[in-house]
Amino acid sequence: MQHSPMRFETRAVHAGGEPDPATGAIAPPIHLSTTFEHGPAGEPHAAGHIYIRESNPTQSRLEEALAAIEGGEAALSFGSGVGAGAACLQALEPGAHVLFHRDLYYAFRTMAVEYLPRWGMEASFVDMTDLDATEHALRPNTQLVWTESPTNPTMQILDLRAIAALSKGAGALLLVDGTFATPALQRPLELGADVVLHSTTKSLGGHSDVHGGALAFRSRGELMHRAQHNRHILGAVASPFASWMVLRGIRTLACRMERQSATALAVARALEGNPGLRSVHYPGLESDPGHAVAMGQMSAFGAMMSLRVAGGREGAVRAASRVKLFRNATSLGGVESLLEHRRSVESPDSPTPDDLIRVSIGLEHPDDLIEDLVQAVAV
Ligand SMILES: *Cc1c(COP(=O)(O)O)cnc(C)c1O
Repeated sequence: MQHSPMRFETRAVHAGGEPDPATGAIAPPIHLSTTFEHGPAGEPHAAGHIYIRESNPTQSRLEEALAAIEGGEAALSFGSGVGAGAACLQALEPGAHVLFHRDLYYAFRTMAVEYLPRWGMEASFVDMTDLDATEHALRPNTQLVWTESPTNPTMQILDLRAIAALSKGAGALLLVDGTFATPALQRPLELGADVVLHSTTKSLGGHSDVHGGALAFRSRGELMHRAQHNRHILGAVASPFASWMVLRGIRTLACRMERQSATALAVARALEGNPGLRSVHYPGLESDPGHAVAMGQMSAFGAMMSLRVAGGREGAVRAASRVKLFRNATSLGGVESLLEHRRSVESPDSPTPDDLIRVSIGLEHPDDLIEDLVQAVAV
């Protein structure tokens, strides 16, 4: 029977979730086996698995779900978000140039600056909110354009359709780190990107209890095959238990993101104009410079925001020290609200402003979160 393509929420609940053929179990089994019986000349079993590092049944279920929720032909899961990114960068040719947006996840900046030259590649940075500058920064050997939207931690919004067109025009592939938005709110492959990266440690896992990463690909092309080979040979593989936890998180992603986005918008609106703050960066605010672009590519604005606190570093650290409900902790996308003075946990040469607090909104009642932040930033 021919099915119409199902809607996001339905795919997120069912993809990779066929009942276990051996038992009928509705919840997916976790297969811990590291090895799978094969024939005398190495012929794989019908399921196709040989050794855990190459593929395994729990990971296959997760990858089916990741591809389905991003609308891609294929997906790969990894042991971490940075492992996924490294596998993708290492899939490029020696001599390749990678163009990065200026504001990006700090470990990828480190990879660009320290590691790409060692791997025989070039990296450069440009402010991709400026499309002319972006076009000029593309080089004949640019193989990959690396974006994030919204960005971690300054919450900039990049026009992904426009950047996809520029990348395509230059013969480069476009990667979007979609960790903040998640496919519940933004699906970059539908906007023209070639590959989407996730730290599944964040909202896909959703409960601050599993570490993982993912790449979802527009097509089963060369980039995907090379990244898969890198995972197999270089080893950034997730455990079956971690794969199972991420798959479980995906089941509730749509409703968590819907609620966390609504709460984040309420918090941002309540804080906007507070005399203890210089600014609130949240793309759902009409005053936000990224609002119009975000309206065209996101269905809601996500759980993340950043606050620029009055009084510089001292003001920001004081506010972070006063919270009673929020916890000071890194990471994001869990059910509990977290915040952190971001500059303090990035490298000393980080471009993150000194007065910035990054906030991850969880599933608590919005009024409790607003009360806590209002008393924390009071002058
Ligand atoms: C956390 C994060 C990463 C890195 O993921 P890990 O799972 O910690 O390796 C990459 N990109 C963004 C936007 C992140 O927030």
